[in-house]
Amino acid sequence: MIIRKTDDQIEKMAAAGAVHARCMKMLTSKVRPGVTTADLDEAAEKFIRSQGGVPTFKGFRGFPGSICASPNSMVVHGIPGPYTLEKGDIISIDIGVTLDGWVADGASTIPVGPIDETTQKLLTVTKESLDLAAAQMVPGNRVGDIGHAVQSHVEANGFSIIRTLVGHGVGQDMHEEPQIPNYGTAGRGPEIEEGMVFAIEPMVNVGGPHVYMDDDGWSVYSEDGSMAAHFEYTVAATADGPRILTPWDRD
Ligand code: MG
Repeated sequence: MIIRKTDDQIEKMAAAGAVHARCMKMLTSKVRPGVTTADLDEAAEKFIRSQGGVPTFKGFRGFPGSICASPNSMVVHGIPGPYTLEKGDIISIDIGVTLDGWVADGASTIPVGPIDETTQKLLTVTKESLDLAAAQMVPGNRVGDIGHAVQSHVEANGFSIIRTLVGHGVGQDMHEEPQIPNYGTAGRGPEIEEGMVFAIEPMVNVGGPHVYMDDDGWSVYSEDGSMAAHFEYTVAATADGPRILTPWDRD
């Protein structure tokens, strides 16, 4: 069952999302060579708790961090630690904030200083695919419209969709139904109804689509070692159209 949220509940999720967005902006400003992913994690946890929130990921199935921090060919779920950012890296930062019992989930991939042209194109195209997908969060559309929007844009630009990792419904639980694949057929799948809230999260490799899990049981890497990007919003379908609840790239 896909849980629909009331207007009041969406406002609560937006409040969590406002903390999320400020946390992401703060972390983005800290990204530079010499910073460790543990530094980012510590800053995130301190900020989220200072706002009365809880870092949703901490302790989730034993995950030790407050954020996921995934450099370069690591796609998602990186455990923060001693990894030190270097010029030319990219770093995916995924943040979950629980505030007043409601979850906001979102991610961005940030360049560490100047990056090569292909990697810049990866970031641009993956973010664009998120924006195109978020625009599909309109009552009457279908879940397949979201995946189709991501897939068509990413593949037209020569990159690969990771099919084994998907977005999800979000609310009082971080992972609710339905799954939101980053591929699909327009007009297919469950109908999007007013009050549904989804975490839409394209995950894209420069090279092939395959990934593997590291021995740590969390970190997911592109199989061919190519760069990987991950961008995510929590988006509500409202009568007025899509509402981005984690506006980390907006004023
Ligand atoms: Mg998510």
